[in-house]
Amino acid sequence: MTIASNLGFPRIGHRRALKTALESFWSGQIDASALHDAAHAIMQKHWQIQRSAGIGHIPSSDFTLYDHVLDTAMMLGAVPPGYGWKPGEKPSLAQYFALARGTHEAACGHAGHGQAALEMTKWFDTNYHYMVPRLHAGQRFELTENRPLAAYRQAAAHGLRTRPVLLGPISFLHLSKTDDGSDALDLLPRLLPLYHQILAELAQEGVSWVQIDEPILALDLTSRQRDAITLAYGALACPPIEILLASYFAPMGDNLPTILALPVHGLHLDLCRGAADLTPVLDHARPDLALSLGLVDGRNIWRTDLRAALRVAQQVAARRDARRVLIAPSCSLLHVPLDSALETKLPAVLHQSLAFAVQKLREIADLAKGVDEGASSIALALEASDRAIAGLRESEDVHHRAVADRLAGLSQDMAQRRSGYATRRMVQQKQLGLPAFPTTTIGSLPQTAEIRQLRAAHARGEIDDRSYDDAIAGRIAQAVSWQEDIGIDVLVHGEFERNDMVRYFGEQLAGFAFTQHGWVQSYGSRCVAPPIIWGDVARPAPMTLRWTLYAQSLTTKPMKAMLTGPVTILQWSFVREDIARETVCKQIALALRDEVADLEAAHIGIIQIDEPALREGLPLRRAEQAAYLSWAVESFRLTASPVADGTQIHTHMCYADFNDILSDIAALDADVISIEATRSRMELLDGFATHRYPNDIGPGVWDIHSPRVPEPDEMLGLLRRALTRIEPGQLWVNPDCGLKTRKWEEVRPALVNMVSAAKLLRREQTA
Ligand code: GLN
Ligand code: ZN
Repeated sequence: MTIASNLGFPRIGHRRALKTALESFWSGQIDASALHDAAHAIMQKHWQIQRSAGIGHIPSSDFTLYDHVLDTAMMLGAVPPGYGWKPGEKPSLAQYFALARGTHEAACGHAGHGQAALEMTKWFDTNYHYMVPRLHAGQRFELTENRPLAAYRQAAAHGLRTRPVLLGPISFLHLSKTDDGSDALDLLPRLLPLYHQILAELAQEGVSWVQIDEPILALDLTSRQRDAITLAYGALACPPIEILLASYFAPMGDNLPTILALPVHGLHLDLCRGAADLTPVLDHARPDLALSLGLVDGRNIWRTDLRAALRVAQQVAARRDARRVLIAPSCSLLHVPLDSALETKLPAVLHQSLAFAVQKLREIADLAKGVDEGASSIALALEASDRAIAGLRESEDVHHRAVADRLAGLSQDMAQRRSGYATRRMVQQKQLGLPAFPTTTIGSLPQTAEIRQLRAAHARGEIDDRSYDDAIAGRIAQAVSWQEDIGIDVLVHGEFERNDMVRYFGEQLAGFAFTQHGWVQSYGSRCVAPPIIWGDVARPAPMTLRWTLYAQSLTTKPMKAMLTGPVTILQWSFVREDIARETVCKQIALALRDEVADLEAAHIGIIQIDEPALREGLPLRRAEQAAYLSWAVESFRLTASPVADGTQIHTHMCYADFNDILSDIAALDADVISIEATRSRMELLDGFATHRYPNDIGPGVWDIHSPRVPEPDEMLGLLRRALTRIEPGQLWVNPDCGLKTRKWEEVRPALVNMVSAAKLLRREQTA
């Protein structure tokens, strides 16, 4: 009998129940035991859902109150000093949330008080963020609690035998950072006895399978890492417990010889993103190695092509012992929303094509049944899958002839500015007449509670368009005259009308749909509901002209228009799969290109195209990165290039590790790029200097992630440091990022100080 299996379930719960419980606990409305009860209720409900869907291998300990990497660190006693934890103790809930969120004093920005949270970063190429464990050379570990065992027992109390999930030691060390620059992998020998103990205790409890996640197996590995894998699993794979080793998000590829030689009992394959692994695995795997076939996509929201998936599963089952074949999602279902049945407002063709976590479980169970009892046993499911695919294929909402024709007619010169940067710069200098070291901001100004309430009330229909528009216009007028007063050179309108930098555009473009409950965990209690790009993308009407022109009409200074770039819109959406991502990205690029052209025609002289997600779209495997970068850069250029030499194109990105993609950033050929640079104290400009980056740069001089207001001298110091790396003619003065999360009480003095710093620098440079 084939086994229907799952690797992990969304934690956030029905109607974001976990979010509600966490936030009630943080605000003191409920106590710890009520929080644990709420968490337990969510877990139990999710186990029930999985059981009734027919899943045989149900995961446990995939649930977490905040983050599974943080849970693992605490379980292993990897708690940095300063959080009040003492060896030999079980860490408290207060310590746990201090690591996750910082303590109140630190969160308020009072220097010297409280503890900052651990750093947070993206979990591989997903939009889930994990807490980065902090280790050091000579780090001691201790098992503070056997979490998988505890979760197994909790499920067992409800009569369920589950498969505990554990983050593997090699990935844990890889995801950690050391305070002293030592190699975390050196700590492996200290970690293995703890993993050994966890497994031994599970085995003693009678657990038959444990799932160990080692997503690092899908990365480009060094020989040292491969040796560590061989060492670790040589030591850990001991009967009677069976280990299912799981990796996902990319092919294991050249790591397979190492992996297939491990004495583990089962191997999970991501057959959505790593389909190429299947043939070598079938050719070389030990006959008794259980294979978990990740046929149901855990990274996207579409129904599985069940017929195609069944064919693959049947082929494998025919060559293997079917009792050691598992049908699974490609990765944990953490990355998809809970249940598409809750959506009531989507077009029918789209709705019948969706599979969120609950629907994916059913697909898995159907596939397992189809392998065991033949295709006819799941005839209804197969027909429904066929219908969904055909529905999208034939839908007039999906395919627009004009979009396809336009894409087919793309030519090289459409992605090319008319002149090179040197020429453009001269024309722009003449037309814009900006001072040396021009000052500007990144786009958004504080999104106050009042603005958010206004937008929400308008969306609910409680206030009419007229009053809403008047209110937005009022905010813009205030913001414009204030920026003029304090002497900013390139103004912004403030983005008060925008809820979210992707949604605002998606709502005005054809091809997008929005869910009511499509929440996916981003970090802790924070969720996002990405738009769904399901049809050809087109722009029925201008999207930003109205407010940009209104803002420009209030001032003689240049007003910078704000657009979200094509790669970022793509990256922060769930994307259709019947055409290539590259094609979708170029469709978006062309829609935005028209917006750029319209803005220019309306005499807007500066247009910023934000691409904060350019880097996160980078494929995990190096071999695939060049192809992505090539179409991503081309898409940006398609958007940016319809304009004349005198129109200045800006872009903005907000991450600090640029060096490995610097030539691609240069290839964007934006006239000005603004980037986050404060925390690196301008050191990231080293790369720009060595690469002789030719265009203008605005390295941020104010870390907007903190409420602290920097003094003019501090910003001047940073600007001077920037000038040791780039030419004076290249330097702009701006904050690290948009100001939507900051308060006016911080923004006012900080921007005044920033303008002073620029003036001081001008004086100093002409002296
Ligand atoms: N223009 C956007 C803003 O200022 C950019 C946001 C971002 O970089 N994520 O808010
Ligand atoms: Zn930013």
